[in-house]
Amino acid sequence: MLEDKNQERTSLEKLGEFGLIDHLTENFEIKHTSTIKGIGDDAAVFDHTEKTVLTTDLLIEGVHFDLSYMPLKHLGYKAVMVNLSDVYAMNATATSITVSLAVSNRFPLEALEELYAGIALAAKVFNVDLIGGDTTSSTSGMLISITAIGEAKEEEITYRSGAKPNDLLVVSGDLGAAYMGLQVLDREKEVFKVNPNNQPDLSPYSYIVERQLKPEARKDIVELLKEMEVLPTSMIDISDGLSSEILHLCKSSKVGCNLFEEKIPLDPTVISACEEFNVDSTMVALSGGEDYELLFTISQNDFDKIKGNPSLTVIGHMTDEREGAYLVTRGNTKIELTAQGWNSFNSDN
Ligand code: ADP
Ligand code: MG
Repeated sequence: MLEDKNQERTSLEKLGEFGLIDHLTENFEIKHTSTIKGIGDDAAVFDHTEKTVLTTDLLIEGVHFDLSYMPLKHLGYKAVMVNLSDVYAMNATATSITVSLAVSNRFPLEALEELYAGIALAAKVFNVDLIGGDTTSSTSGMLISITAIGEAKEEEITYRSGAKPNDLLVVSGDLGAAYMGLQVLDREKEVFKVNPNNQPDLSPYSYIVERQLKPEARKDIVELLKEMEVLPTSMIDISDGLSSEILHLCKSSKVGCNLFEEKIPLDPTVISACEEFNVDSTMVALSGGEDYELLFTISQNDFDKIKGNPSLTVIGHMTDEREGAYLVTRGNTKIELTAQGWNSFNSDN
């Protein structure tokens, strides 16, 4: 899309750094009274009444995203989601973000406008203020680093470390869709390389492709749990696959776990895509990653409060640490869970 000759291309040099920052950020409004100073000084100033949580992520072109199938608007949106998801995983309310950007001169102004349109949409929908960032040039490609800031009452913050034996293990939404969406996009990219005139029909895959390109952080689940008066004993967001996130909870909380294969929530389109690609849907849920669902534990006493909620599925329970962490298969055999979650230091990535 960047190569489209009909599109206007304004070179970044024409604006200069300050002109660029002003231009990209002019339509952002400050929504929170806790934001005392946003963009425009040497540092932002905010005034939280509760505890502050802060998280940051660095996304690198060619490592974390591929612009040949990721529209820049989606990339901007997703970069914000990845961070907000971490804030929600602390059971906190996200209030603000900073956006730092390194871009090569291959990108025209219009490309950055698209990126910021995605960031603006995410900020609006999730009610966060853009309060600063940094802008610099890169010799090749694009780097985006977003920091998200939030607040929570001290007693409501959920760490990875609070799970107890017999707590129930609960997940929001469904799993594996983002990974299968990526498989579809990868396949279409290969087809496109061979025949650029071939316009793919992605409509049968719209749910899984959307889950890959436009993930939604689960702000709604944090709000739902508050409404239900359920305080999770531990929580994490699923960025790397269910298996590795469960192991993080087990390790931090010093507990074991039984995860039941038959309980893992899968969308029907994930199941059919897995059949088409000849991959095991349980493996995809365990290792796929990028679902940005919330995984948490609750006391058994809270089961009645969440029972029957379509957004929440009990998938297992925690055990004594010495019992280990296991997948209990449909055939009732126990397989030890391993962290096959996506690892950015794997040589094949
Ligand atoms: P400094 O030289 O003090 O780092 P900058 O000139 O880099 O300041 O930034 C000026 C203001 O614009 C600051 O408030 C900064 O946080 C904000 N800013 C810079 N780049 C971005 C960006 N990409 N997105 C949002 N705000 C930005
Ligand atoms: Mg700066």
